[in-house]
Amino acid sequence: MEASPTAASGISVDLYGLSDTKSLPEPDVDILTCDALRIPAHSSILASMSPVLENVIDRPRKHRSSERVIPILGVPYDAVLAFVRFLYSSSCTEENMEKYGIHLLALSHVYLVPQLKHRCTKELGQRLTIENVVDVLQLAKMCDAADLYLKCLKLVANHFKVVETTEGWKFLQDHDPWLELDILQFIDEIESRKKRARKHREEQRLYLQLSEAMECLEHICKEGCTSVGPYDMEPGHKRRPCSKFSTCQGLQMLFQHFATCKRRVNGGCLRCKRMWQLLKLHSSMCDEPDSCRVPLCRQFKLKMQQEKKRDEARWKLLVKKVVSAKTISSLSLSKRKREEELGEARSTTPPPNGIRSFRL
Ligand SMILES: [Zn+2]
Ligand SMILES: [Zn+2]
Ligand SMILES: [Zn+2]
Repeated sequence: MEASPTAASGISVDLYGLSDTKSLPEPDVDILTCDALRIPAHSSILASMSPVLENVIDRPRKHRSSERVIPILGVPYDAVLAFVRFLYSSSCTEENMEKYGIHLLALSHVYLVPQLKHRCTKELGQRLTIENVVDVLQLAKMCDAADLYLKCLKLVANHFKVVETTEGWKFLQDHDPWLELDILQFIDEIESRKKRARKHREEQRLYLQLSEAMECLEHICKEGCTSVGPYDMEPGHKRRPCSKFSTCQGLQMLFQHFATCKRRVNGGCLRCKRMWQLLKLHSSMCDEPDSCRVPLCRQFKLKMQQEKKRDEARWKLLVKKVVSAKTISSLSLSKRKREEELGEARSTTPPPNGIRSFRL
């Protein structure tokens, strides 16, 4: 206990957290705390800081002469004292905030003291731990402290396995199943949001690989790369690995296979089918089928124009996604990534997921 409750006349200088109490008149009201302890105070100051206390003070008394007592029960004496000090000095020590932050938040909410509520919300948010988060969360909900509530929810969601073992969580399960449900729902939403984002990233990566494959396809058929080139061009014309070596090498192997495979697409060869799909995708994106050197480009174009196929929309969508994936990546490709790619081009080991990982 910090300051002993005193009679109205003998107020110690630091009772109100002020350096000088000389200018204060005699206290005219007592705050009654639990344990029947009293804190003398000034009704004008209490009323000016809290509309709720103002109401209590203005309430008519039974006897004009009876002393004015305001009960603030249910929280420790020292927490009430810290609250009263805030009403006088608009400040609160770190030590009090540390010890009584939870009580002060409740008092600031009940007695409508927004400055204190703001301070408590901020400080409690900074002092959240696995051990106290469930208690603070419940209080934040009761006190309509939305920011603090959300902060608690996020902490619970991120460390649920540990939070689940705390006393606070067990108490909550027994006493507030609705809040428990709210929290579990929140965790669920976060999880599915993460899952959606992961799925989107994976899709983007695939479209980007496809877009790179399209570039390599044209470049192999136009100028040739390490081991595969156009039929009318001297092999050995260009023998250094290109900047998209990993994708390019996979494609070249696919080309070589496609040229010699006996089973072919209709025989059920999956590698040939993949090549077929890549060639078809190229044709869907190609603007110059007449002068294009990519195999089957013109044939695919004609075929697609003749047959208004049912899956035309699906192909159009795929083309759109491949094109936009490239645009997005070229905008966001960081310098570091470009350097990585250059490094990869120099290395000769095939990548773990080259062209083989495509699924159309
Ligand atoms: Zn190449
Ligand atoms: Zn094959
Ligand atoms: Zn073409």
